[in-house]
Amino acid sequence: MLKSHSCGVLRAEDAGKQVTLAGWINRRRDHGGLIFLDVRDRFGVTQVTINSDNQPDAHAVAATLRSEFVVQFHGTVQKRPPGFENPDLPTGEIEVIADKVVILSEARTPPFVISGDQGDDVDEAVRLKYRYLDLRRPKLARNMALRHNIVRFIRNYLSDRDFLEIETPILLKSTPEGARDFVVPSRMHAGKFYALPQSPQQMKQLLMVAGMERYFQIARCFRDEDLRADRQPEFTQLDLEMSFVDQGDIMALIEPMLIELSQQVSSKRILQTPFPVISWDDAMDKYGIDRPDIRFGQTLCNVSSLVAESGFGVFKNAVAAGGLVKGVVYPGGAGMSRREIDELTEFIKPYGAKGLAWIGVTGEPDSDGHYTGDALRSQITKFLSQEEIDGIVSASGAGAGDLILLVADQPDVTNPSLANLRLEIGRRAGLIDQNLLAFCWVVDFPLLEYSEDEDRWVACHHPFTTAQDADWPRLESEPGKVKAKAYDVILNGWEIGGGSIRIHRSDHQMRLFQRLGMNEAEVDEMFGHLLEAFTYGAPPHGGIALGIERVVALYADAASIREVMAFPKTATGTDLLLEAPSPVSEKQLVELHISVRDKKK
Ligand code: ASP
Repeated sequence: MLKSHSCGVLRAEDAGKQVTLAGWINRRRDHGGLIFLDVRDRFGVTQVTINSDNQPDAHAVAATLRSEFVVQFHGTVQKRPPGFENPDLPTGEIEVIADKVVILSEARTPPFVISGDQGDDVDEAVRLKYRYLDLRRPKLARNMALRHNIVRFIRNYLSDRDFLEIETPILLKSTPEGARDFVVPSRMHAGKFYALPQSPQQMKQLLMVAGMERYFQIARCFRDEDLRADRQPEFTQLDLEMSFVDQGDIMALIEPMLIELSQQVSSKRILQTPFPVISWDDAMDKYGIDRPDIRFGQTLCNVSSLVAESGFGVFKNAVAAGGLVKGVVYPGGAGMSRREIDELTEFIKPYGAKGLAWIGVTGEPDSDGHYTGDALRSQITKFLSQEEIDGIVSASGAGAGDLILLVADQPDVTNPSLANLRLEIGRRAGLIDQNLLAFCWVVDFPLLEYSEDEDRWVACHHPFTTAQDADWPRLESEPGKVKAKAYDVILNGWEIGGGSIRIHRSDHQMRLFQRLGMNEAEVDEMFGHLLEAFTYGAPPHGGIALGIERVVALYADAASIREVMAFPKTATGTDLLLEAPSPVSEKQLVELHISVRDKKK
C-alpha cells in the first residue's frame, strides 16, 4: 500500500505515530517557512505541515505543489497546538508533520473548484464533461456512497428473505413498457436486431414459470424516450418478482423494506405508517395526478355538478363537453395582486389550461351563511348564482383570507393544471415540510387507456398486468372501466416504484393482446415464447420495480437523478465525457449490414 492510513482516520490518540498518507492537494497555505496542506482522499481531509527549518528537502518539494496534485507524505502525527484545532474536521485535532514528500502525479488547474461543497453554480455541461473531477467533490462522492448503501441494504434485505438475485440478458428482444426500444444490430444475423430491455419484465415472468419463486435483480433498463428531469435513457431498477402472491403480499414486502431503509439512511420522519393506500380514482379526484405529494393538504375540489347549469358559460360549457371544473385553495391569497394571479395563470398554461378563474374570500359569510358583497373579490361571481358561490366556497374549504383558483376544461387539462398548481402553491406558501418522507400507495389503476395517437386501447402499466377478477367480463364491452391489479408506491410526489399481478394463463394473455389490437400472428411473433411457457404450468405471480436513482435522489435531497449517477447523460441523451453517441467506421457499418440514410425530411 502506498499509504498507512486514510485521510479521514487520524485522531488525537494517534499522536506520535509514524504514518504515510496519500491523496490530492485540497488546499494549500504557504506561510514561507511553513506550508500547510489539506490532503484529501475519499475518506476525509488531513492537514499536513512542512517546516523548512526541520525538513528543507520536503519543504522544497511542498513549495511546488498545487491543487489536485497527487502526493504521498511520510511524517509524524502531532496534536495541533491549543487554539489551532479545527472542529469542522474529524481529523481537526491533529496534523501530520511531514519529513518526506513525493509527487505521484501533477495536475492541471481544474475547470472548477473541487474542494468543499461550493460550485453548484458551475455549468452542468462542464461538470458532465469533467465528471471524474465532479465526482471528487464531496457532494457527489457522498451521493455515490449513499447509493451504494441503499443498494447493499436492498440486496441484504431480500437475500435474507429467500430471494435469489438472477441476471437477465441485456441483448434481448423487444419488451414493451410503453417506450421506444434501443436496438442493436446483429453482425452474425444480417438485418436482424436485438433490443435492449426496457425492463426484465418477460424474463422475470419466465423465471417464475421456471420455479424460482422469489427473484430480484438490480437491473439496468433502457428506454428511448424524450427525457425529463427525472428520466435518463438508461437507469437502474430494483426489479422483483414473486410466485403465489397477491397484491397485498407484494405491498407487505416492500413497505417494511422502505421503512427500514428510511430509518437507516435518512434522518427525516415518515409521515404515516402503514402507508396510506389511495385508489387511482381518489388520487385523480383529490390531487389531479396519480403520484400525489401528501406532505401537505390543499386537495382539489370538484364543483362540476354544482356549476353544470351555471350562468357562467365557461363552466357550463366545460361540463357539457364532458369536462371538469375543479379548484384549489391558495391559503392567505385573497389579497393577491392581479399580477401575481396572472403569474399563476401563466404557470398553468403549459398544461393546456386556457385560463384561471378565481374567487378571493375576503370576509365572513353574512348571517344567513351567504358569501356576498365585501366578503368576495372575483371577476366571475357576477355570473354565478348565490347557491353556486356558496357551494364553491364550501366545497373548497376556503376561509376568510383564502383564494380559490378554478380550472374548467377536459379532464386531461383540468387535472394536470391543478395538480401542478397545487404543488406550486405548496412551494410558494411554504406548505411543504422538507423533513417528511410521505409514502403512499396508489392502487386500482385502470387496466387500459385509449390512445388517440394510435387509435387503439393501450395498457396503462404493461400488457402483462391482469385485470381485477370481477372486471374480466367487461374487457371487450367496457374496456375503459376495467381496473388492474396494479400498484405504485409514491414518495413525496415521485413515483418510486410500480408493479402488478400478472396474467399467468395463456388464454387470458391472448384475450388481452387481442383487446390491444394485435392479431394471433402478431402475438405469436412477439410473445409466442411467453404464451407457450404459460402452457407448461405457470404459477400465479406478480412483482414490482423500484427506480433506484429516484429513491437515492429523494434520500439525497438531489434536484435531479443525474446527481446520483456516476456518468449520466444530458437531457438530450448525450454523454459529454465520451461524446456518445458518435459515428462508427464504414467498416463497422458494413460488418453490421447497415447503411445510414439521411435524416428523414
Ligand atoms: N416492469 C415494470 C416496470 O419496469 C415493473 C413491474 O411491473 O414489475 O415498470
